[in-house]
Amino acid sequence: MTHPLGDGIYRITLPLPFPSPQSVNCYLFEGEKGLTLLDCGIDGVEEFELLIRALEGFGFGLPDLHRLVASHLHVDHMGMAKRIIDTTGCDWLMHASTIAEIPHYNDWGSRRDELARVVEASGAPDEVVERFRLETLRPAWFSEAIRPTHPVGDGHKIPLSPTRHLEVIFTPGHQANHLCLLDSRTGRLFSGDHVLPRISPFIPYTGEGHDHLGAYLDSLERIAGLDARETYPGHGPTIARGSARAHQILLHHQRRLDAMLEVVAECPRTPWHVMQAVFRPNLSSLEERLAFQETMAHLEYLRSRSRVERVSREGRWAYRIPDVGREV
Ligand SMILES: [Zn+2]
Repeated sequence: MTHPLGDGIYRITLPLPFPSPQSVNCYLFEGEKGLTLLDCGIDGVEEFELLIRALEGFGFGLPDLHRLVASHLHVDHMGMAKRIIDTTGCDWLMHASTIAEIPHYNDWGSRRDELARVVEASGAPDEVVERFRLETLRPAWFSEAIRPTHPVGDGHKIPLSPTRHLEVIFTPGHQANHLCLLDSRTGRLFSGDHVLPRISPFIPYTGEGHDHLGAYLDSLERIAGLDARETYPGHGPTIARGSARAHQILLHHQRRLDAMLEVVAECPRTPWHVMQAVFRPNLSSLEERLAFQETMAHLEYLRSRSRVERVSREGRWAYRIPDVGREV
């Protein structure tokens, strides 16, 4: 599905092999040196064909591609990058912090084992731990990431013409290397998965020392403060007021943090218990994996701000309100 958005911008929507989201939005920008493509979907012969046909639908061809940008290091946004770069030789832009993360990202097996260990410590039943291990074998749609040829940082201006550029806004949280693009001519914001229209973007848990929720809320505040209006997300329809949507998502996380504090207020609770208390029942196993990581991200956010503490008994974690307050 393709759609011209005016001002030399086009949207290409490519299918995804997931139950949700079922498609990804890629955005094409005309420039003096050629086309800039933001995000490119998962890798595959069919997907590549669809991309070529979409370009042709707008009167372009693959050789017109001058640069490819990925909003973040997730397969639905950069899976096809290697195929496109090998074919066209175009420049390849990602946030500079991606470079250090690529080896870990490509190592699917150790990421899966790390998560399974955390699930085990979380108080999940044995059969759930086993299911996590079995269901997270490397899927066919996973493709390895390649290093950007042109790493970029916050504030970097990607030139489209002498009078127009796309400004990089570093927005970690949904993923540690996430960036948004702001069009200097139209003020349109291209938000990747940072701000989505219908769902609140997934916040991962990737182990001790990573406060993805803290990073996310900070970068969401930044987008909220931009007064962004028309916002073009990585999934779903255009958002009329991006900053208003950012405010809604901030509120959603505040409520979720409050709900979790309430659950652990009575007595120490395992992360698995907190997840079951806060999320709706009957989650699919994929939804359960995401909900579990979200729960951990929220609990660890609270812990790093001393709102809760974590105790460990026989290798199982429980979170509780710190004793300090109670002794006064
Ligand atoms: Zn996505």
